Amino acid sequence: LIAFLLYLFYLMGPIGGLVEGWTGLQSGLAAVRRIDEVESLPGEPAGGFGGLKEGGGPLRVTFQEVTFGYGDERAPAHKGVTFDVPTGGMVALVGPSGAGKSTVFSLLERFYDHDGGTITVGGRDIRDWPLAELRGSIAYVEQDAPVLAGTLRENLLFAAPDAPDDRLADAVARTRLDALVDRLPEGLDTPVGHRGVTLSGGERQRIAIARALLRRPRLLLLDEVTSQLDAVNEQALRDVILELAEQTTVLVIAHRLSTVRHADRIVVLEEGRVRTAGTHEELIDGDELYRELATTQLAAEGAEAGAR
Ligand code: ATP
Repeated sequence: LIAFLLYLFYLMGPIGGLVEGWTGLQSGLAAVRRIDEVESLPGEPAGGFGGLKEGGGPLRVTFQEVTFGYGDERAPAHKGVTFDVPTGGMVALVGPSGAGKSTVFSLLERFYDHDGGTITVGGRDIRDWPLAELRGSIAYVEQDAPVLAGTLRENLLFAAPDAPDDRLADAVARTRLDALVDRLPEGLDTPVGHRGVTLSGGERQRIAIARALLRRPRLLLLDEVTSQLDAVNEQALRDVILELAEQTTVLVIAHRLSTVRHADRIVVLEEGRVRTAGTHEELIDGDELYRELATTQLAAEGAEAGAR
């Protein structure tokens, strides 16, 4: 547990030195709270949390009538969620705010344990996975991806320390981080994070995606950035995600029309349930809520793309 505590503090960054304001403190506290929850989960291995490893092939994910509440007075976050992400498929989750999209990721990472129903990963009940192996198989690219206190190189190689230089250079180029590297005074060896150069949200997410490229996860959980990206970066990210989708199973919380268009299947969540699922073409004709989401939430990017 102490090793995990240190790891989380390292990951969350702000507790390395002075706390950088309320948001940092909040995420630190959330991490500590999560540790209690994680500690109480069954099946935790004795070997710590360093079990990141490559290979093994893409994993299928199924949710079967999953129920889950965060334990407060509010309505449960999941009230019987059922969907399937086939091996090597790309499934997009969409839905209004509070529908339960992020909760899907939290349950898959086992930050929390679901209350009812069944979640399987790779055909195995999620509760039967040793936690380190499960998390070692998943790359979770958050919207507000954390940066470690260290150099850019250390950040990129964190989950794949043995990756050779050519793979590192390739991941940097494909996520268009080379412009950042050129700009930094010591290139890849420049300290970043709260004790070094401050990076934008888009740069941090691209670092997280480069990390995922280097690691070759069996399941990629991606919470797409909502912030606007310039056309070059957006195209680069789309290419990388599509390439990752060829090697791994991808579950993405989609904020862009271009993403849902590329998804094999879109799952529309509403108030803790799956409202409907299908392809963009099927849903745009067949589902009122999806049509509304596509023309509002997903539309900003659509308008940009249309203008290009
Ligand atoms: P958004 O698009 O706004 O991120 P979402 O679809 O991802 O929303 P969730 O974050 O999964 O929705 O939230 C589902 C429900 O669970 C909401 O009612 C939310 O307030 C609640 N919830 C989410 N995280 C927590 C938490 N850590 N503690 C308590 N309640 C939570």
